[in-house]
Amino acid sequence: MNKIKNIGVLTSGGDAPGMNAAIRAVVRAAIYYDLEVTGILRGYEGLVHGDFIEMNRKSVANIIQRGGTILKTARSETFKTAEGREMGYQQLKKHHIDALIVIGGDGTFTGANLFTNEFDFPIVGLPGTIDNDLQGTDFTIGYDTAINTVVNAVDKIRDTAESHDRLFIVEVMGRDSGLIALRSGIGVGAEAILIPEANMGVEGLIQRLENGRKDKASKIVIVAEGDEVGGAFNVGEALKQKFPNYDIRVSVLGHIQRGGKPSCMDRVLASRFGVAAVEGVLAGQSGVMVGQVNRELIFTPFDHAIKHIDAQQVSPAWLKLVEILSL
Ligand code: ATP
Repeated sequence: MNKIKNIGVLTSGGDAPGMNAAIRAVVRAAIYYDLEVTGILRGYEGLVHGDFIEMNRKSVANIIQRGGTILKTARSETFKTAEGREMGYQQLKKHHIDALIVIGGDGTFTGANLFTNEFDFPIVGLPGTIDNDLQGTDFTIGYDTAINTVVNAVDKIRDTAESHDRLFIVEVMGRDSGLIALRSGIGVGAEAILIPEANMGVEGLIQRLENGRKDKASKIVIVAEGDEVGGAFNVGEALKQKFPNYDIRVSVLGHIQRGGKPSCMDRVLASRFGVAAVEGVLAGQSGVMVGQVNRELIFTPFDHAIKHIDAQQVSPAWLKLVEILSL
């Protein structure tokens, strides 16, 4: 007989569009399989402090299309301590919760991995982060929406750039990963893309611009915030000195990249992952993240999922593609 009766669900770390669709799927799947489901507010911070709410099919009505997370999210320093995690475990026992589903990124899974090992407590993760920087899934929930947000914003910037013969440096999110910059950069037809995984540097960029066609009405350079050059303003300054005749403008997109309605891709991914996570828990899965690789659902151990993947996804072939298309 299966002893899982009550599943707890939380969202943690940076919010990502599609987290609500994931919560909805977890709650509806749990109810479908005759389980109780408890919402844990503000990620691990709410776990530690017992900030729990009962969820039912109605509490997730009309949220599939909403950005953010109805369960709120937080970064919890307390959970990083052994005492904090012990407090969290006691809260789960007190509320008769038998398994956890956590929705977040690599930090969330690092914490979940410790917790599941320390207390032998079942946890299944859902990749919810705009960064797409996890192993074991081709795409994370929120990434598709974030790159489309960037593309829509840069298309508008392109209109004004075109009207004034300007060079725009646009900074996008990605402290440790340039995947948002790379994909969206290709999507907007950027002249060059500066990402942490490939050290093009300012010199490389200058060369690219010097070699490029001079009669282009507008030029767009995408910079990932984590690139070694230190952000779009630094790049802008360096270029102004080298090209005093260019009309150079800088734009930092910031938090708009986290907001907005999730794309259909993200809603479907989140829905599929949410149901798979509940079914995984019932089948005895633990210490693993649900993912989709080549269209198949798979479970990957947390310690493997959080290994960084830059070399794999940001291969020279992608950078070559950018160079070829910038002619
Ligand atoms: P995103 O990639 O979108 O920022 P994330 O899940 O990586 O999401 P983090 O803030 O890095 O976001 O992690 C979320 C939470 O996970 C932290 O606030 C903390 O409570 C927990 N966590 C992170 N690292 C550890 C760790 N080494 N030990 C225990 N808990 C951790």
